[in-house]
Amino acid sequence: MKIAVLPGDGIGPEIVTQATKVLEALRRDGMKIEMEHAPIGGAGYEAAGDPLPEATLKLAKDSDAVLLGAVGDWKYDTLPRDQRPERGLLRIRKELGLFANLRPALLYPELASASTLKPEVVSGLDIMIVRELTGDVYFGQPRGISTLPNGEREGVNTMRYCESEIRRIGHVAFRIAMKRNKRVCSVDKANVLETTELWRQVMIEVAKEYPEVELSHMYVDNAAMQLVRAPKQFDVMVTGNIFGDILSDEASMLTGSIGMLPSASLDADNKGMYEPSHGSAPDIAGKDVANPLATILSVAMMLRYTFNDEAGATRIENAVKKALAQGYRTADIHTEGCNKVGCAAMGDVVVAAL
Ligand code: NAD
Repeated sequence: MKIAVLPGDGIGPEIVTQATKVLEALRRDGMKIEMEHAPIGGAGYEAAGDPLPEATLKLAKDSDAVLLGAVGDWKYDTLPRDQRPERGLLRIRKELGLFANLRPALLYPELASASTLKPEVVSGLDIMIVRELTGDVYFGQPRGISTLPNGEREGVNTMRYCESEIRRIGHVAFRIAMKRNKRVCSVDKANVLETTELWRQVMIEVAKEYPEVELSHMYVDNAAMQLVRAPKQFDVMVTGNIFGDILSDEASMLTGSIGMLPSASLDADNKGMYEPSHGSAPDIAGKDVANPLATILSVAMMLRYTFNDEAGATRIENAVKKALAQGYRTADIHTEGCNKVGCAAMGDVVVAAL
């Protein structure tokens, strides 16, 4: 298993170090893991004048999976757009053909009180949001801001999906549902947007290949409401790029802290990039207070989805559960009576629990 390790900026290096400690522990137990580090984002700009240096992209392409920390720092906000850290992230996703973004929203019972929703609404929550990542209104042409003949400015973006793009993300969602509770909810706005009317038609076609999986449909406005009203009704949600962007952030907050949530972005062959759902948190970088669990749980997703190692993935997830059950908490999830630890100590606790 060759893994490209890209720590990035801000808290990236601290949290990735904890995740690689976990990988090293697995290697000591006999797992064949090779890791190579490379800079990306602001670190890439500092090292090579490019947020995605050529050598980093080559390493990512030559590896079986990529482990990413986070990119971005306010100090790069004045750089030209194509040299900013976030551009490195968009480019690596595109270059690797990562079209499927998987974001679980899972609430550990120990953290039920960290959510802003009532514990009875969220405890036991386990949703997987599957978001299409390379199409939709974020990429559709034409786009831009122009001036109309009457002198008024006009902004244009184009919502566009072709059948094959919908079909391939549909298959990802149904395959994941087969490993879970066998329910897929497809989110669209088919009552007003033709693009998503096609989305719905194609989802119905894909569903025929998975007779064991129950498919339902929901308009996005209702889905946004249901996520805070009765989130436990969902198993797998599948949706397009813009709806997925918004709903996955909403779902992440059901669980209390963004520091707990991993993510995976997969290509057609299940090669993937694994990263926490949060950003580089420059406000707490270098203070040893960041929560490394989202990054550690991203390694569990890597084992499950790219390396097909369900046992290894469960082992990591159980180690995280044990660390929480033992009362260890980083500052973002800390409550009265728990044992507050820093980023590195949390990594050590998880490794010990493995
Ligand atoms: P952020 O996710 O970095 O931080 C939001 C808040 O959550 C901050 O208060 C931060 O301290 C806290 N937080 C985030 N991760 C945490 C963790 N693991 N443990 C404890 N607290 C945590 O979002 P932001 O502040 O909007 O953005 C900061 C930078 O990150 C920007 O440059 C932005 O572009 C970038 N960003 C990168 C990614 C990515 O790399 N995938 C995603 C989002 C934002």
